[in-house]
Amino acid sequence: MSTQKGALNMDDEIMRALGFGVQVDLRNEGRCPFCKSEINPSEFINPKSFKEFTLSGLCQKCQDETFLEIDVNDDQSLESFLEGETHD
Ligand SMILES: [Zn+2]
Repeated sequence: MSTQKGALNMDDEIMRALGFGVQVDLRNEGRCPFCKSEINPSEFINPKSFKEFTLSGLCQKCQDETFLEIDVNDDQSLESFLEGETHD
Protein backbone atom coordinates (compact mmCIF):
# COMPACT_ATOMS: atom_id res chain seq x y z
CA MET A 1 0.00 0.00 0.00
CA SER A 2 1.39 3.38 -0.95
CA THR A 3 0.06 6.61 0.42
CA GLN A 4 0.03 9.76 -1.63
CA LYS A 5 1.69 12.36 0.51
CA GLY A 6 0.32 15.82 -0.04
CA ALA A 7 -2.70 14.57 -1.93
CA LEU A 8 -5.61 16.90 -1.49
CA ASN A 9 -8.48 15.75 0.61
CA MET A 10 -11.51 15.90 -1.63
CA ASP A 11 -13.92 16.69 1.20
CA ASP A 12 -11.71 19.55 2.31
CA GLU A 13 -11.62 20.98 -1.18
CA ILE A 14 -15.40 20.83 -1.43
CA MET A 15 -15.75 22.49 1.96
CA ARG A 16 -13.34 25.24 0.94
CA ALA A 17 -15.18 25.75 -2.33
CA LEU A 18 -18.38 26.18 -0.35
CA GLY A 19 -16.78 28.85 1.78
CA PHE A 20 -16.00 26.72 4.83
CA GLY A 21 -12.23 27.11 4.63
CA VAL A 22 -12.03 28.30 8.21
CA GLN A 23 -13.90 25.23 9.41
CA VAL A 24 -11.58 22.97 7.40
CA ASP A 25 -8.53 24.63 8.93
CA LEU A 26 -9.93 24.28 12.44
CA ARG A 27 -10.72 20.63 11.89
CA ASN A 28 -7.25 19.98 10.52
CA GLU A 29 -5.80 21.63 13.63
CA GLY A 30 -7.83 19.32 15.85
CA ARG A 31 -10.25 22.06 16.81
CA CYS A 32 -14.02 22.12 16.81
CA PRO A 33 -15.40 24.12 13.83
CA PHE A 34 -18.23 25.42 16.03
CA CYS A 35 -16.69 26.48 19.33
CA LYS A 36 -13.05 26.45 18.12
CA SER A 37 -11.90 24.68 21.26
CA GLU A 38 -9.17 22.07 21.07
CA ILE A 39 -10.57 18.58 20.88
CA ASN A 40 -9.44 15.91 23.27
CA PRO A 41 -10.28 12.48 21.79
CA SER A 42 -10.98 11.18 25.29
CA GLU A 43 -13.93 13.57 25.64
CA PHE A 44 -16.12 11.46 23.38
CA ILE A 45 -18.58 9.46 25.38
CA ASN A 46 -19.12 6.67 22.86
CA PRO A 47 -17.97 5.37 19.46
CA LYS A 48 -20.93 7.05 17.80
CA SER A 49 -19.82 10.45 19.03
CA PHE A 50 -16.30 9.75 17.92
CA LYS A 51 -17.53 8.74 14.47
CA GLU A 52 -19.54 11.95 14.26
CA PHE A 53 -16.36 13.82 15.15
CA THR A 54 -14.47 12.15 12.30
CA LEU A 55 -17.23 13.27 9.92
CA SER A 56 -18.08 16.76 11.13
CA GLY A 57 -15.18 17.57 13.43
CA LEU A 58 -17.59 18.61 16.17
CA CYS A 59 -16.53 18.26 19.78
CA GLN A 60 -18.68 16.32 22.24
CA LYS A 61 -20.20 19.48 23.69
CA CYS A 62 -21.28 20.83 20.33
CA GLN A 63 -22.60 17.44 19.30
CA ASP A 64 -24.71 17.37 22.46
CA GLU A 65 -26.09 20.82 21.76
CA THR A 66 -26.67 20.18 18.07
CA PHE A 67 -28.50 16.92 18.59
CA LEU A 68 -30.48 18.25 21.54
CA GLU A 69 -31.88 20.97 19.30
CA ILE A 70 -32.90 18.42 16.73
CA ASP A 71 -34.61 16.25 19.34
CA VAL A 72 -38.36 16.69 19.20
CA ASN A 73 -40.30 17.16 22.37
CA ASP A 74 -42.94 14.47 22.13
CA ASP A 75 -44.90 15.81 25.09
CA GLN A 76 -45.79 18.97 23.26
CA SER A 77 -47.96 19.25 20.18
CA LEU A 78 -46.88 21.56 17.40
CA GLU A 79 -49.99 23.65 18.05
CA SER A 80 -49.22 24.27 21.69
CA PHE A 81 -45.58 24.87 20.85
CA LEU A 82 -46.49 27.59 18.35
CA GLU A 83 -49.02 29.11 20.76
CA GLY A 84 -46.40 29.16 23.47
CA GLU A 85 -44.21 31.22 21.18
CA THR A 86 -46.79 33.95 20.53
CA HIS A 87 -48.43 34.11 23.97
CA ASP A 88 -46.49 35.36 26.90
ZN1 LIG B 1 -17.34 22.45 19.88
